[in-house]
Amino acid sequence: MIRTRVTSLLVAILAILPLAIVWFAYVSSGTTLEKTKELYARQTVRDATEDIADLATEYLTPLVATTGLAARQLGGGGADSSTADAIETYLSTTLATSPRTDAITWLRPDGAIYEIRQDGSRLVTNHSDPNTEEPAITTRWRSEAGAVLAETTVPGVLENPNPLLLTESQVNASAAAVSTASDGTTPILTLAATTDGGTVFVEVDLADLGRFIGEYTPTASSRVFVADGTELIVHARPELIDRAPAGSEVALLPDRPTAVGGALTTGGDGWQELTIDEAIYHGVSWGIPGIDEFDWTVVAIAPEDDFSPQFDSLRRTDTLYFGALAILSILLAIPLARMAVRDVGSLHTAAHRDSLTGLLNRRTFEKHGATMVANARRRRRSVGALMVDIDHFKDLNDTYGHHAGDEILEAVAGRISHSVAKTDLVARLGGDELALLLDGADLAATRSVAARLKNAVTATPISTHRGPVYVTVSIGASATDTMDRARFEDVLKAADRALYASKRAGRDRVTAVEVVRTH
Ligand code: GH3
Ligand code: MG
Repeated sequence: MIRTRVTSLLVAILAILPLAIVWFAYVSSGTTLEKTKELYARQTVRDATEDIADLATEYLTPLVATTGLAARQLGGGGADSSTADAIETYLSTTLATSPRTDAITWLRPDGAIYEIRQDGSRLVTNHSDPNTEEPAITTRWRSEAGAVLAETTVPGVLENPNPLLLTESQVNASAAAVSTASDGTTPILTLAATTDGGTVFVEVDLADLGRFIGEYTPTASSRVFVADGTELIVHARPELIDRAPAGSEVALLPDRPTAVGGALTTGGDGWQELTIDEAIYHGVSWGIPGIDEFDWTVVAIAPEDDFSPQFDSLRRTDTLYFGALAILSILLAIPLARMAVRDVGSLHTAAHRDSLTGLLNRRTFEKHGATMVANARRRRRSVGALMVDIDHFKDLNDTYGHHAGDEILEAVAGRISHSVAKTDLVARLGGDELALLLDGADLAATRSVAARLKNAVTATPISTHRGPVYVTVSIGASATDTMDRARFEDVLKAADRALYASKRAGRDRVTAVEVVRTH
């Protein structure tokens, strides 16, 4: 009974173990997947942002160079030594060769203003000199090559063409600032450089930059921003451009998430996970290196949903795969576990039982027998012992052959063990000699069991491959008394003596004797 329970437990454990391993692998693959997802999101956004930062640098660097160069050229010449024509030629050439530049303005120290601006495919040059007797504004239309196409002159002076109205200190040093053009939406970046010869402003329409970085949106729903560290955010799509005060939450256009200002205006490089409108975004910021005039950061944010579908499908594949693996492992594990248990069981049997008859072997009988007698003595109960020996077994072997002898031995063992209780011990001590210990049996009970056994063996012939064979047995019986202090060896010796007496008295009989203690 206990064996059965232990066995089922063992089968269950062996069957569940692979299942547990599969489950563990499934769970840890999920964790790995989550980790991979995060890294992937980070990497994708970061790669894109790096690209954009590189391109933005590439975009802006020539502008800064243009400004510095223009300032040096114009300032170095001095106000008086350059003619308006020479300056115009210089400005128009510079503008023509710097396609991202929209306008260049030279503010001379004496108040004269020269401005050249892109107007479609032509360049429009304005110059106004308040020092002449009758101030006038001359406008010349030029081809891209610089040739004058038309000219008008009207009285007056040019207003400061720069809508930014730079402060004195900004004008006196190299500066960069961003403003909104008169149409109210287009952001204008103005770079300024000042020398003895005056101040040069270079203007760039930042919508270009918006279009430019718009080509680099890393994922379907990602958004890319350029934050200038002060107040302007240029979105990847040119129509989504807005201003926001530094350090505050960015007031974005209606379809845009809010509360990303912190991420956008921190500057420098970094990654963070943001929750915007209850969705998780991966945000990467990347400082644009190398241009001191700017403190610009490119920021890309991508919602995790952009990455989810492909990871969800990976997850589904994983689930199917592990599910199939689990079923397979159960199908394999149960029969394997059964086999293992059966092997263990048969090893156990082999060590304790006689292989021909299936009865206990001598060693096991002695071990359990000693325990049974000791227990009975403690409880003041008696134990009966029987020694059974087949009569003239040697002759049976000689007559019918060794094989038939084996069949007879097996049958006698079977008939005997079926005639006693399950708690009684039945053993083959060797040859044709069997022994029994009957728990709780006194001498009278033992004697009657012996008679029953003898009858079971002898009443009907045993069928062998050589035909039916009648067999008789001699039995010796003995039993411990309830007050007796007899041991296992004593009671067995007594039964053996009784068996000997049965043999001597002519066989096919039962002899019972009292136990004689030898100690
Ligand atoms: P007795 O009535 O005096 O017991 O006569 P016996 O012939 O049975 O005498 P003994 O006990 O000396 O002989 C036992 C015989 O049992 C000897 C041996 O050939 C035979 N034997 C012992 N083990 C086996 C076995 O496993 N199979 C078979 N077929 N014979 C066995
Ligand atoms: Mg014999």
